[in-house]
Amino acid sequence: MGLLDGRNALIFGVANDHSIAWGIARALQAEGAEVGFSSVESLIERRVRPLAESIGSTFVEPCDVQSDEQIRAVFARWAETHDSLDILVHALAFARREDLEGGFVETSREGFALALDVSAYSLVALAREARPLLRRGSSILTLSYYGAEKVVANYNVMGVAKAALEASVRYLAVDLGPDGIRVNAISAGPIRTLAASGIAGFKRMYGGFAEVAPLRANITPEDVGRSAVYLASDLSNAVTGETLYVDGGFNIVGVPTAD
Ligand code: NAD
Repeated sequence: MGLLDGRNALIFGVANDHSIAWGIARALQAEGAEVGFSSVESLIERRVRPLAESIGSTFVEPCDVQSDEQIRAVFARWAETHDSLDILVHALAFARREDLEGGFVETSREGFALALDVSAYSLVALAREARPLLRRGSSILTLSYYGAEKVVANYNVMGVAKAALEASVRYLAVDLGPDGIRVNAISAGPIRTLAASGIAGFKRMYGGFAEVAPLRANITPEDVGRSAVYLASDLSNAVTGETLYVDGGFNIVGVPTAD
């Protein structure tokens, strides 16, 4: 018996087999969920479809989350074969490379708007368009990072976007809560992924993490996947609007001391 037997999940944000979204997909599937995928068009045939097929998943649809039309099309396709959506996973973000290094004060108006649109507003847009399919017990999940609340070198506009994302989680949780729909974020410790490679100095940040995090280990997509199962399942049926840290305790430390 799996914790997610009989449930289905639509997962946005798989780029490759290092993606956090892929770790979440495998964990949800291992607990019995049927999973479907949406990702940007350019990744679909080369990356996402082969991964989906490797776990027997046939629902793979393109979507650039900057387009309301494309978002609507994905949920319309889902509705052709499903009566409902139990789990919606939003594991995507984007900012221009030049906005992820140097001074935050240099962030352009366009770079700010782009990062906030793709990385924060898209959660609102996905939740709204998914709403007719969501039912009592459905769970929406997104991915955040510690840079939302403390300054992390070079994270810059993405920190502001993650702060907006975490606030959006709370507002959505209040809007959708009366219908029994939960909305939560996982704030993950650093993981080597395509998106992370766009942040200047990421290697330095990743390298020292395991020395100062209380659990003295790096975080993996599998770690995030297991916590996603908790947030997607009835184990967390009274939890909404929260940001759950999956960071080996890193966020609780005021002044880090390495061994
Ligand atoms: P990733 O590169 O594997 O995934 C990022 C995804 O965002 C990609 O699939 C990309 O195609 C998608 N994306 C970007 N712009 C898009 C658009 N306009 N429309 C649709 N999709 C778009 O990297 P990841 O690290 O797995 O990132 C997943 C999430 O986890 C992101 O929100 C990221 O900020 C967050 N996160 C990552 C880390 C880390 O250290 N890797 C830590 C905490 C939180």
